[in-house]
Amino acid sequence: MAGQHARQARQTIHAGGEWREAASGATRDILDPADAQPFTVVAEGDEKDTDVAVAAARQAFDHGDWPRTPVSERAALLYRVADLLVRDRERLGLLESRDAGKTLEEGRVDIDCVADAFRYFAGLVAAESSGRVVDAGSPDIHSVVVHEPVGVCALITPWNYPLLQASWKIAPALAAGNTFVVKPSEITPLTTIALIELLVEAGLPAGVANIVTGPGHSVGARLAEHPDVDLVSFTGGLASGTKVAQAAAPSVKKVALELGGKNPNVVFADACATEEGFDTAVDQALNAAFIHSGQVCSAGGRLIIEESVRERFVAELAQRAGRIRLGRGTDDGVECGPLVSEQQRAKVDGYVASALAEGAVLRTGGKRPEGLGDGYFYEPTVLDACHREMTVVREEVFGPVLTVETFRTEDEAVALANDTEYGLAGAVWTSDAGRARRVAGRLRHGTVWINDFHPYLPQAEWGGFGKSGTGRELGPAGLAEYRETKHIYQNLAPRPVRWFAG
Ligand code: NAD
Repeated sequence: MAGQHARQARQTIHAGGEWREAASGATRDILDPADAQPFTVVAEGDEKDTDVAVAAARQAFDHGDWPRTPVSERAALLYRVADLLVRDRERLGLLESRDAGKTLEEGRVDIDCVADAFRYFAGLVAAESSGRVVDAGSPDIHSVVVHEPVGVCALITPWNYPLLQASWKIAPALAAGNTFVVKPSEITPLTTIALIELLVEAGLPAGVANIVTGPGHSVGARLAEHPDVDLVSFTGGLASGTKVAQAAAPSVKKVALELGGKNPNVVFADACATEEGFDTAVDQALNAAFIHSGQVCSAGGRLIIEESVRERFVAELAQRAGRIRLGRGTDDGVECGPLVSEQQRAKVDGYVASALAEGAVLRTGGKRPEGLGDGYFYEPTVLDACHREMTVVREEVFGPVLTVETFRTEDEAVALANDTEYGLAGAVWTSDAGRARRVAGRLRHGTVWINDFHPYLPQAEWGGFGKSGTGRELGPAGLAEYRETKHIYQNLAPRPVRWFAG
């Protein structure tokens, strides 16, 4: 409890159980994306603060109790954290909404999903046996494979799902017995700071959970290269992820990268054969592309639709997209909040301009809305007549922009859907169960939805093919990322082998 009430506003760096300001005294204003006004301030840490936090995590791993705490106790702590998240759901949901610009309801759902992640990893470790006995072919040999924590983990997270992405790392890292330093996005750090407070309240020993708020080029880069960090798990864009992998290489630390996506939503005409099917496919195409204003790594920003239904489908889609209610995420009836920053909005605007210059047809949106003040809003945008050579089709936009491409055959649909250097997620819509499984099997993406878009399960691995990343989060593989595997071979009746005569 002490940590929760002792923290002063600018003390957002937590190292070795103490809340601190940045050593340099620097601070950063956190802006509300709905009106571009600062609403709180955090410490702007740098390399020095990072070194202090890594030293605390190292000390807690090498000399503290956590890595050796029985799994049942580690699981119990994770369950307590889940309960605290449920207790604070409204407060944290609101904080996430304000910080990241999402609707309050999305903020609440995020917190539910965060609690689910803690419960899932608690249950997973608690149910495990303590090792796998291997048959060594002799009664005199006892051979067992065990798992141990990796050590000090650096966890670097993005701004779109600040607490959710952090929890997919923090929950398994703790379940496996690691210590960590988390670096949230510099523009959305608030809920991750709040989570550290909850971990303290739940009774996690000092030094196990550390946080440094600050920019990627200093705090993030230092974490990635730090010789005392054993693992770096990064979620963010391709450009930063590549730098992290390069910085981590000389010290040969373990690296897990969860990067961007360019996710196809493939709609066959048979999915639209009934009015109900048509309505569902259109509704879900909107959901795929525009939830959280498209700032989702798995956003279905590429609609790949069978030529015969294109005209009716796109007309209906554009009409509904044009009716999406924009506004501050906490206001009643608002369906989409602003983009996270002016920089992000300018980037999205640039992609739309390039698409139009390359021949795309604007069906709706394509500009900043009127009457919403200084917030970073952008209209949901549908771009028709797109093709694979366009920048907007090849690069991740990370905003409310849907591009439309068409196909005539199943092979063509699969080829288009796989024609990306990414491979995070994709969907196929069809009433033909055989075709659904056939296409799902051919898509080179880490998650494939059939007749749905966006759901994920904590029990099922999440991650990408190709340039969408290297690791997996969630599921058993999401825990395995945070473990070393050790083979212990015990000879119960040692005798000389006489390999050497003397
Ligand atoms: P980003 O790459 O700009 O930043 C991500 C994090 O990395 C931030 O904390 C940032 O400060 C830090 N960072 C930046 N440069 C760094 C460096 N050189 N060394 C170390 N750390 C550095 O990404 P973003 O704009 O915050 O997030 C959007 C991106 O995240 C999108 O590409 C999105 O697809 C991706 N994302 C992926 C997943 C997934 O599960 N695969 C989930 C959410 C977001």
